[in-house]
Amino acid sequence: MISFKVSDMEKQVADLIHGMAKDIMRPIARYYDEHEHQRPTELEPFRVIMQAGGMGTGRKKKSGEKKEIKVTDDKIGANAMSITGAEELAWGDVGLMLALPGQGLGNAAISAVATDEQYERFGSKYAAMAITEPGCGSDASAVSTTAVLDGDEYVLNGEKIFVTDGDRCEVVVVWATLDKSKGRNAIKSFVVEKGTPGLTVGKLEHKCGIRASDTAVLIFQDCRIPKTNILGDPEIRPEGGFKGVMATFDATRPLVGALALGCARAAYEFTKEALAKEGIEIRYDKPLVKLSAIEKDMLWMEAQLEMMRVIIQKAAWMADNGRPNNLEASMAKAKGGKAGNLIVQKCVEILGPIGYSQRYLLEKWMRDNKVNDIYEGTQQIQMLVIARRILGYGRDMLA
Ligand SMILES: Cc1cc2nc3c(=O)[nH]c(=O)nc-3n(C[C@H](O)[C@H](O)[C@H](O)COP(=O)(O)OP(=O)(O)OC[C@H]3O[C@@H](n4cnc5c(N)ncnc54)[C@H](O)[C@@H]3O)c2cc1C
Repeated sequence: MISFKVSDMEKQVADLIHGMAKDIMRPIARYYDEHEHQRPTELEPFRVIMQAGGMGTGRKKKSGEKKEIKVTDDKIGANAMSITGAEELAWGDVGLMLALPGQGLGNAAISAVATDEQYERFGSKYAAMAITEPGCGSDASAVSTTAVLDGDEYVLNGEKIFVTDGDRCEVVVVWATLDKSKGRNAIKSFVVEKGTPGLTVGKLEHKCGIRASDTAVLIFQDCRIPKTNILGDPEIRPEGGFKGVMATFDATRPLVGALALGCARAAYEFTKEALAKEGIEIRYDKPLVKLSAIEKDMLWMEAQLEMMRVIIQKAAWMADNGRPNNLEASMAKAKGGKAGNLIVQKCVEILGPIGYSQRYLLEKWMRDNKVNDIYEGTQQIQMLVIARRILGYGRDMLA
């Protein structure tokens, strides 16, 4: 049975990371918002933490055993720990969280799909994830980057866009098709090391928010990689091949929900403190009809934050306990993305000019949080996944 009790270990981890987010991230957040594409060297102390836990969620050890962290009813699993850390880091700053060195979204893919031998080689490398192309985003099965086997090597050709960590990473996990005519089951993921001839970084995006995080165009032109760098099963199976690569999202979507939760919580706490300075306190002991409009707004936000946390924790708990969590992962992402944005916007609205001014970070959090409802599948795509799962419809019936 799932338990929402916060264990001592989770609390200790959350407190430690919260302290680092407060002392290291917050003071530099505005600087890197204004100096897009500059690498935040102050984040180096986080590298060790990221490599110890990071995005390598729920990875089994060679023996087939789970990581040392025990899964109990207190939900101390690797996924639960990751979302706890992600929330605190995003409370510090979402852009800087994404810019943390050591681990990126690609590590979740390596963790989910790599063989033991591949995990040994790539598990601790800083990995970006390249799926999106100029002609393919929401429909990941439309990938047209190609991978052709030539002797002991695959030859990659294609262009990937909006790759988080694309410039700063050490390796890129690239989705490519072995044979476009065979559809989605021919799509596989490949690990490409930076510096491999044929891989170049194109332009870096200028963005509305999360400016501390680099978002790059990657070009693959006759890029040759060892054939052992294909992740998972190299064969094109008539059924289920695509599910392997899609499993990555079941680990990363709750994490993105946790980023939205951390950012929205930061906005809520800032607003509550600003109101308190003006003598406006929330009266928890009064019935709703006696409360002011602002008090009601604040209580609504608290309820939203709790709803986000419960579904995100559930999705992580299910992953930690070996249960399929595709539905809950999408729910966590959908709820996190939508409620997170409503909360930061409401906070800006309540504080008016204080919320909009660059004197404070609230306006930045509003810009930063927007992306949590876009990448790793937009709000609409999560709704599609959720509807399909609940109704038992396939892609052919609901697209
Ligand atoms: C800052 C940032 C970082 C990113 N990082 C990465 C990364 O690291 N790796 C990576 O591979 N990608 C990354 N992306 C890309 C991101 O995942 C895609 O932008 C996203 O999945 C949407 O795809 P698209 O841009 O092609 O939009 P489209 O698929 O063209 O969608 C446009 C709009 O149409 C809607 N839509 C599309 N299909 C449907 C449908 N069937 N029903 C209803 N509505 C629909 C979408 O919800 C959206 O509102 C990043 C994007 C951003 C902005």
